[in-house]
Amino acid sequence: DGEIEFDNVTFSYDKRTTALNGISFKVPKGSSVALVGESGSGKSTILRLLYRFYDLAEGGGRILIDGQDIRDVTQKSLRASIGVVPQDSVLFNSSIGYNIGYGKFGASPQEIEEAAKSAQMHERITSFPDGYDTKVGERGVRLSGGEKQRVAIARTLLKNPPILLLDEATSALDTSTEKDIQKALQNLVQGRSSLSIAHRLSTIASADLILVLKDGRIVEQGTHTELLALD
Ligand code: ADP
Ligand code: ADP
Repeated sequence: DGEIEFDNVTFSYDKRTTALNGISFKVPKGSSVALVGESGSGKSTILRLLYRFYDLAEGGGRILIDGQDIRDVTQKSLRASIGVVPQDSVLFNSSIGYNIGYGKFGASPQEIEEAAKSAQMHERITSFPDGYDTKVGERGVRLSGGEKQRVAIARTLLKNPPILLLDEATSALDTSTEKDIQKALQNLVQGRSSLSIAHRLSTIASADLILVLKDGRIVEQGTHTELLALD
């Protein structure tokens, strides 16, 4: 499962502005959709509504997962099927292994190691975000922004949800880990339905569908190749 559908979704946070205006699209099971558009165009609102940080008003359209209105399932079971990788991941002041293990209650050390490997974080599994390493017993290098993101990716891999919401970092990440992040993201997105607020060129280029948003509406859509051909 994991097919997502937005059916004529209109949403306002307050009376003055319309954040989303008649948004319709489908994310077929296992496919990836990239959301692009300037700040304030509605990208985050799409993710927030799917995760039910806010509910649609009567007459504001519908959001469906596998044909079922998300208001008809409990928030708990909805959120169990969705993995979220935020722009800035806040980590516990504990080992990377512990931070990854948080993704799944009762995960075995082997499972945690496996997830860490898929996100290229296994070499730092015993170190803390601030660099302190429990095994070495001394302070090493602090985690970079890219590494923190890979911890969040590993945590989500462990949770293993059919649906993913990704908010890619706008800030320039350390280029040395760019390849590692790309690979970790590939491992995560593979086989899941994903909606990404996309800033990385690799994410946009590999998306099955790109939605270009402006003022709460979809103004263009297609694959990377199709959109390039529009000029
Ligand atoms: P970004 O600018 O990186 O897309 P946000 O999604 O947080 O970051 O913000 C998008 C727009 O929404 C901004 O113009 C911001 O001022 C506005 N915004 C975000 N949160 C609130 C809020 N709680 N109340 C009013 N406006 C908000
Ligand atoms: P994006 O993620 O593309 O930057 P958003 O979805 O955050 O855009 O914002 C869409 C619109 O909704 C903007 O006009 C923004 O100012 C408004 N908005 C976003 N969050 C809030 C909020 N919490 N309260 C009021 N208005 C908001």
